[in-house]
Amino acid sequence: MRDVEEKDLILHGKRRKEEALKPLVEVRKCRECGEENAPIAVYCVKCGKVLSFELPREEMKKRDEAIRNLTQKSEEATKRLENLERRLKESKP
Ligand SMILES: [Zn+2]
Repeated sequence: MRDVEEKDLILHGKRRKEEALKPLVEVRKCRECGEENAPIAVYCVKCGKVLSFELPREEMKKRDEAIRNLTQKSEEATKRLENLERRLKESKP
């Protein structure tokens, strides 16, 4: 349902496409001012400092870990759901 609303907002121009896509795109956060720059940015658009190339690697590590955690959680949730469904079926006459 949420997806439909999102697309609707984009279609009607109430929300810019870039804005909606922002969370999906890797950003390079400036260490100096915290400004979020484009993934290909070399300099910070706000303060002009050179963006570190180490950051994406760190971010990748963090992301890998987050994905691993999420996968684990979703597997756990699936198992729990299967258990619940089984119990529900068993309790039906
Ligand atoms: Zn900056």
